[in-house]
Amino acid sequence: MKNREKGQEKKEYDLVIIGGGPAGMMMAVTAAKDGASVLILEKNRSLGEKLKITGGGRCNITNAEFDVKKFLENFPESKKFLYSPFSKFSSRDTFSFFEKAGLPLVVEARKRAFPKSQKALDVLKTFQKLLKKYKVEVRTGAEVIDISKKHKNRPDEPDLIASVTLKNGEKVYGKNFAIATGGYAAPETGSTGDGFKWLKKLEHNVLKPNPNIVPLTTDSQILQKISGTDWSFMKIRFIQNGKTQFSKIGKILFTHFGLSSPLILNSSHRVKKLLDQGPVMASIDLFPDTPEPDLDKKILKLFQKNHNKKLKNVLPELLSKKLAEAILEFFPPALAQKKVNEVSREERKALVKKIKNLEMQITGTLGMDRAVIADGGIALEEVDFSRMTSKKYANLYLLGDILNINRPSGGYSLQLCWTTGFVAGKNLQAPHLQAPGEGANIF
Ligand SMILES: Cc1cc2nc3c(=O)[nH]c(=O)nc-3n(C[C@H](O)[C@H](O)[C@H](O)COP(=O)(O)OP(=O)(O)OC[C@H]3O[C@@H](n4cnc5c(N)ncnc54)[C@H](O)[C@@H]3O)c2cc1C
Repeated sequence: MKNREKGQEKKEYDLVIIGGGPAGMMMAVTAAKDGASVLILEKNRSLGEKLKITGGGRCNITNAEFDVKKFLENFPESKKFLYSPFSKFSSRDTFSFFEKAGLPLVVEARKRAFPKSQKALDVLKTFQKLLKKYKVEVRTGAEVIDISKKHKNRPDEPDLIASVTLKNGEKVYGKNFAIATGGYAAPETGSTGDGFKWLKKLEHNVLKPNPNIVPLTTDSQILQKISGTDWSFMKIRFIQNGKTQFSKIGKILFTHFGLSSPLILNSSHRVKKLLDQGPVMASIDLFPDTPEPDLDKKILKLFQKNHNKKLKNVLPELLSKKLAEAILEFFPPALAQKKVNEVSREERKALVKKIKNLEMQITGTLGMDRAVIADGGIALEEVDFSRMTSKKYANLYLLGDILNINRPSGGYSLQLCWTTGFVAGKNLQAPHLQAPGEGANIF
């Protein structure tokens, strides 16, 4: 469709999408399949830079929890907003969408789903195929620098978006626009928070983003020395004002900066909130299933079996070598050199206490460059979730990481992109398009 401005014919797309990540691509193919003329503007040289590195290059594409209610339990603060879009496109629909597009999925531990090929690149290739099939116009190397409102002739006219401006000064016109520019996490992939700036300018409320699903930093020099060590079953308690605020059990990875592993990443949001209120200590129990007296007995037995050996050579039978060394660093060096039959009852008890209560101060989190997602983003009250539009600008769609939605790792972030992208694309306002439908069977 053409639009006349300053004597020139201007193309006006049914939909202009800013950002060619998973959410933008999903909206593009959905709307284009229904007949819309769609343009994706992507500032990188290629689409889906972040998508390519998801799941360590394997892409944890969704979570195979097909009960929407249970699925949304992972979105505690935002689930009330998400029932509507997820009732239209759930993780079950994601399975059929990709399988119909020729990309079968497999389910692994904790219901995490991956492409059967185990390649994130294949997810991108699938979209590239669909974008071509439905004739979506894609412009890469096209950085949007501004977004402009439609001029109102009368004050009672609704607020609408009219155009976007590219870095080269060119203006692009559309009937509808989508901001799918992602958040702030992993900025090297192109997600530099540009969308938030425009939303603020458009008088939307944007909550401050923090790195989320991110490793924790600690003050513990000793633990930093055992970088790379993991221990498959531990309990970590996060303590504030002398009280345990919450605890988790599972695998923890000690790194040169502090703590990592999915358990830690998925605790980072709550820890960050605690840190905003004051200092946070962490206490790690290396034997959460064994009460102190039982662990003491276990160690005693070990000592009796090895009575002539040095403690530093015996402890690795109970812990890993590196962990044993780390524990012994908390004690005077002479203890490690003692033969176990010379270790006093008090020293043994202190050892037990340390193994079950390895304390460290949490100093913060790593930055956006190491975060999987950033929380913050547009306030959910300002979004119409039945269409994924701004409540202020009826022709402005808001998708994926631009939304202020906290969630854990496990395929939930990409599912949010598939759901919001699909619902937005299906509810595009353009009179000549098919009526909105439900589910993924259109593909
Ligand atoms: C290392 C890592 C691993 C991850 N693994 C998983 C996983 O396995 N499973 C999972 O569910 N989630 C995972 N995530 C999270 C997931 O990748 C994101 O939630 C998802 O990519 C968000 O998609 P999006 O389309 O909203 O934004 P993005 O993927 O961030 O895409 C936004 C796009 O917009 C473009 N853009 C930005 N500004 C402009 C502009 N001004 N003009 C034009 N284009 C612009 C960017 O270049 C980018 O291509 C991972 C994240 C990271 C960092």
